[in-house]
Amino acid sequence: MKQIQDQLFKVAIYLRLSKDDGDFSSAENGKSESNSIHNQRELLMAFLAKHPEMELYDEYKDDGRTGTNFDRPEFQRMMDDVRKGSVNCVIVKDLSRFGRDYIECGKYIEKIFPQLGVRFISINDGFDTRAAGSADSIVIPFKNLINDSYSRDISIKVRSNLDVKRKNGEFISNFAVYGYEKDPENKNQLIVDEDAAEVVRDIFKWKIEGLSPNRIAGKLNGLGILSPMEYKKARGSKFKTEFKTNGKALWSHVAVRRILKNEVYVGVLVQGKRTTPNYKTKKFIYKNESEWVRVENRHDAIISRPQFDLVQQLLREDTRASSEKTEVHPYCGRIFCGDCGAPAVRKTAGSCGRQYVYYVCSANKANRDVCSKHSIREDVLDKVVLATVQRQIEVILDMDRAMQQIEALSWEKAEIKKIDANIEYQSQVIEKNNALRLGVYEDLRAGILTKEEFLTLKEEFMERIDTAKQLIEQLTSDKSGIQHGLKKQQSWLSGFREYKNISEISRIIVVNLIERINIFENAEIEVVFRQRDQFADIMSFLEEQEQKKAAKGAIPFPGLEVV
Ligand SMILES: [Zn+2]
Repeated sequence: MKQIQDQLFKVAIYLRLSKDDGDFSSAENGKSESNSIHNQRELLMAFLAKHPEMELYDEYKDDGRTGTNFDRPEFQRMMDDVRKGSVNCVIVKDLSRFGRDYIECGKYIEKIFPQLGVRFISINDGFDTRAAGSADSIVIPFKNLINDSYSRDISIKVRSNLDVKRKNGEFISNFAVYGYEKDPENKNQLIVDEDAAEVVRDIFKWKIEGLSPNRIAGKLNGLGILSPMEYKKARGSKFKTEFKTNGKALWSHVAVRRILKNEVYVGVLVQGKRTTPNYKTKKFIYKNESEWVRVENRHDAIISRPQFDLVQQLLREDTRASSEKTEVHPYCGRIFCGDCGAPAVRKTAGSCGRQYVYYVCSANKANRDVCSKHSIREDVLDKVVLATVQRQIEVILDMDRAMQQIEALSWEKAEIKKIDANIEYQSQVIEKNNALRLGVYEDLRAGILTKEEFLTLKEEFMERIDTAKQLIEQLTSDKSGIQHGLKKQQSWLSGFREYKNISEISRIIVVNLIERINIFENAEIEVVFRQRDQFADIMSFLEEQEQKKAAKGAIPFPGLEVV
């Protein structure tokens, strides 16, 4: 056994703040003061001051990291220092700072640290591996278990709430798909938007007549029909989606294909295509088709089933693969021909010091009949993309400001107050019916009620209690939806502040912000930004707040995902 009694301890103090835990580093509301980084540090430093045998080696701070996994940069850096031998004692404020995953936490505390000869101290839990061996080693897994189920609990509640809505065939997305609109009477119901539906019917008809998605897009543009995005704009959304450079967003083969493949047009509502695998992972995964929540005949069909199936077959027949190279210039893998959809290739031309770089459609390179050249110089592209990104960032920061303001507005408080009042009322319902239930039991014993009457009444009271309990659960999750949904969106938007003053296009910016760039023969450039859905969600959220303010409103919150 190692002699650690007289040893000098080289200490790592580990701090963590997580949004999942309801702690916010930016929070000025003082709500989570007890867990703020500042607070954790103070406690840990005070502890060190009392222990002369301990010497601070470094502080490791994961800000805004979830405790449900150990994939945290500073935690990993600390482990590296542990393995190097620079650190032989790890101290945290409490176990939940360390992690919220029972098995993983246990692995570190009970296996990895002992093997590496590292002492682990959790101050508020009064836990110290050097003192362990007694009852503590039983307490630890138990506490870990509680931390773990706490995380799981939050996540499952919100999920199941959304799942129920999906299974009822309620439309919970914030936007109606092109061809439909939300029923003004019931925002969970889609109704046919005749103008757009007519266009959808044409698109299917033309595909069956043999036109490619690209030709269909061209035809629609030729006829001056507004693309879905422009159409939505034209029908008046206040917050403009600036996901486009010059002029108007045209129809693209991508948009056409998306329509041709969407089962919504035969009256099927397909939702829940993606999910997070569990509360420990933040990444979205796409579910198998068999797991999608499909509800048939939920709304009127625009396209008949046989027509739809035929189109699917046609689309399968003309699938083709696109080739790609791996060369890392800023736009690598992100530039496409806007007309045929093929990737663009980067080329260098010129001579004697007057070299320049340009992009051309790769389909044209392969076969001149397939597509035209679409040549565009990189320096031109740089300017346009930079201007577009700068404008996009401005829009995002505007949204950010709007979202920050929303917190200050009193309607949110009013909303929460209303829910609280309702929860309070439902609790009273439970209490009252419990009392009634006891009352009828007394009556039964006193011979006032027959057994049958007693059972009927008892059942009725139980039912009321159950209903009230369910309502409370629902209301509670609605409430966390209001708070977490807003804060999550706010902090996500704030993340874009670092791009505020960009002056040139780098690979990092392209990778983080841009999904694809389409170049067109008429030298138009379209920049398609990533995470459009998320921005769209926020925009519709903001719009809804506007409306709500106007209506002094009773509209319930939309299904904001808080996973
Ligand atoms: Zn092309």
